[in-house]
Amino acid sequence: MPASYTRRMDELERVDPSLFQLIRAELARERGVLDMVASENIAPIAVLEAQGSILTNKYADGYPEARLYDGCEVIDEIELLAIDRAKELFGAGHANVQPYSGTSANAAALRAFAQPGDAILGFAFDQGGHPSQYDSATPAGHLYEGHSYGVDRATGLLDFEQIREIALRVRPRVIFAGGSCYPRAIPFVRFREICDEVGAYLVADIAHLAGLIAAGRHESPVELADACTLTVHKTLGGARGGMILSRAMHAEVIDAAVFPGSQGGPITASFAAKAVTLHLCATPEFKERIDRTLTGARILAHHFAAAERDTRLHLVAGGTDTHLFALDTFDAGLTGQHALSWCHFLGVMGNAMTIPFDRATPPDCSGLRLGTAALATRGFRDADFAELADVLVTRFIDPSGPTLLALRERTRELARRFPIYPDLVL
Ligand SMILES: *Cc1c(COP(=O)(O)O)cnc(C)c1O
Repeated sequence: MPASYTRRMDELERVDPSLFQLIRAELARERGVLDMVASENIAPIAVLEAQGSILTNKYADGYPEARLYDGCEVIDEIELLAIDRAKELFGAGHANVQPYSGTSANAAALRAFAQPGDAILGFAFDQGGHPSQYDSATPAGHLYEGHSYGVDRATGLLDFEQIREIALRVRPRVIFAGGSCYPRAIPFVRFREICDEVGAYLVADIAHLAGLIAAGRHESPVELADACTLTVHKTLGGARGGMILSRAMHAEVIDAAVFPGSQGGPITASFAAKAVTLHLCATPEFKERIDRTLTGARILAHHFAAAERDTRLHLVAGGTDTHLFALDTFDAGLTGQHALSWCHFLGVMGNAMTIPFDRATPPDCSGLRLGTAALATRGFRDADFAELADVLVTRFIDPSGPTLLALRERTRELARRFPIYPDLVL
């Protein structure tokens, strides 16, 4: 099977050698580093094959059995397969698999539930949320009156008193629950209570949590929320793209909001790539991988917590319940960008991010976000995460020490021990 995959790349090499060289360079880069970008993962070859298939040729505006194009009978089956698998995996009444991305899914959810000019309320980006939930700079944000909420200064946890107070004051039509840099579990039921009190729709933005929820390792908002928006390429680890789950009663309004409301023709090959992803996410192997992901994050967070006095790095929100954690770098005399460059030198990729009540002066920030999803997909187990934790903590305890190259060698060894696409020869 990998051989045929290689042959297809041979054709790319023949017709466009310079692009082929760039893909080869990117594969080498991915193989050589340890990806701790919390939103990234490594898609299975089967997903890449579906994504790169002949399905890309087909136009299919509309929905199964209600298309604006002829010849969609096979595409209908593929989209229905993806829809059925999504409903089954998450226990949802309805699924729309057309959103191009998580941001498009949020834009469509807003279009479904709010009118231009309505107040909407999302989780502030600089507190751990995502701008597509409220920010006027994003595709839908400019149509609405965006408001945002944050976390409690002392605990770093979602501040439900504040969320309720803002909701009572601005009367949002839609409240989003779910973040990008929030390491703790999200009690969706608290959001439901506030939505019921103020008469708002609840959209659970599970872009990051989808894999944990699918594996049954985080409370599911599917029955509580009016809709859930998600990405398929983060913890689900598959096709790049978005998705919306909703109550069956919202099926029509959600579908109309996606197409024609906020998108054009669907990326037909991504129906297939999403369907394969969902198929793989229903397996025991997937649950086992999510378990390694979660234990890995806890192991790393524990190592950092134990070394706090030496590194002067603090865990944002005191730790993690998820696949990611964030470090406050300010007391270590580092910006998030600087801390990230230290990791980068070791071949460890992450994100520099603004953290709640960040003490750095913008555009600097004091947050380093690290996640374990891609490493778990690569095969990391507890001992490997512990080895990596030791390397990272040592790096921050002794930044100028002669150990630097030795540390770099240890991360290289981990990268070699867990090869990416070992059968893919480019
Ligand atoms: C990643 C993310 C998005 C956006 O997804 P894209 O596919 O990058 O557009 C939306 N909301 C949250 C909470 C996210 O983490």
